[in-house]
Amino acid sequence: KSFEEDAAIKYLQGQYEKINPDDIRTFKDFPLSQKTLNGLKANNYVTPTEIQKQAIGYALQGKDILGAAKTGSGKTLAFLIPILENLFCKKWTRLDGVGALVISPTRELAYQIYETLRKIGHFHDFSAGLIIGGQNLKFERKRMDQINILICTPGRLLQHMDENPLFDCSHLQIVVLDEADRCLDMGFETTMNAIIENLPPQRQTLLFSATQTKSVKDLARLSLSFPTYVAPHEQA
Ligand code: ADP
Ligand code: MG
Repeated sequence: KSFEEDAAIKYLQGQYEKINPDDIRTFKDFPLSQKTLNGLKANNYVTPTEIQKQAIGYALQGKDILGAAKTGSGKTLAFLIPILENLFCKKWTRLDGVGALVISPTRELAYQIYETLRKIGHFHDFSAGLIIGGQNLKFERKRMDQINILICTPGRLLQHMDENPLFDCSHLQIVVLDEADRCLDMGFETTMNAIIENLPPQRQTLLFSATQTKSVKDLARLSLSFPTYVAPHEQA
């Protein structure tokens, strides 16, 4: 079984360089694990949106991404699919700790991302956790070392980084800064900078923002290395 899985992973990784966004019609045209394809199918996701077509290939190739895309364009799957594939290809297990981190400006948005992850990640074996405050810090704290994919708000994440000895993100593979412009508008600039300083440098980062303000560019400079800029024109 493990041998077959290794062969499947090698095959997928061998396809990454050949991905051309213009050739993508359905999610099946991407080299994705059967577990992810099953999760998408079970939730009736068939045709990728523009941002998904353009961002997923680069993200699978391991590139950092600076994505400009407005609300409702489908950014959630544009980063959740690469997260699942990244950890799948590395055969990440519960014992490996936090492999992926998604930072979202509000509790509500973080919760929506978590729900989408539960749906499309259903056939994978990763554990997911929501760290958004408003809950018992002790409860969050104890479970922290068993979570593979962490969805969080900036303030609460930094609180764990500062105060929770069980929080360890030193093996982190991939980080998503979702709605970066809103995070900054809400006054999280210092918090975001402090978080980024705490992240291991050897990681992939995907930053999404509806607008490209000066402060977003500053954050991008701080968090991304040689990013690919992705800004689809949505045909309405
Ligand atoms: P954004 O984060 O860019 O605001 P979301 O990821 O929240 O957008 O997606 C907006 C809506 O579009 C959600 O209801 C989501 O389920 C739906 N959606 C996203 N991608 C697809 C797709 N490929 N096919 C159909 N519906 C999709
Ligand atoms: Mg969103």
